[in-house]
Amino acid sequence: MDCIFCKIADKEINSEIVSEDGDFVVFKDINPKAPVHLLIIPKAHIGPVSALKAKDKEVISGIILKAQEVAEKVGVAESGYRLIFNVGKDAGMEVEHLHLHFLAGKIFDF
Ligand code: AMP
Ligand code: ZN
Repeated sequence: MDCIFCKIADKEINSEIVSEDGDFVVFKDINPKAPVHLLIIPKAHIGPVSALKAKDKEVISGIILKAQEVAEKVGVAESGYRLIFNVGKDAGMEVEHLHLHFLAGKIFDF
């Protein structure tokens, strides 16, 4: 499958990886929208939120728990952070591999 985030997970494409375990990769967004802008992806290809199924429950909870871990690691657990899933055209979704945006380091006024 020609999926850019699968290629990042497989290291076929370089990215600035912040952390990695058996199930998830966390890397810096190439076009950051905040001082800290990371993407959390499952290593296995899973489609966007609109395509999730009940069998994906573990990945869905895992990606949020991973965000909590990342917040500790990058030192924003106390100051706060914003988590975003873009879904579909109007949200500007570009990549159809499940990814959670992790943004921090500024005050979001919405
Ligand atoms: P979305 O609009 O939710 O699909 O988000 C896709 C995100 O992936 C955008 O914020 C892009 O800047 C980011 N992105 C695309 N290609 C790369 C890449 N090669 N390395 C890091 N981030 C990327
Ligand atoms: Zn993929």
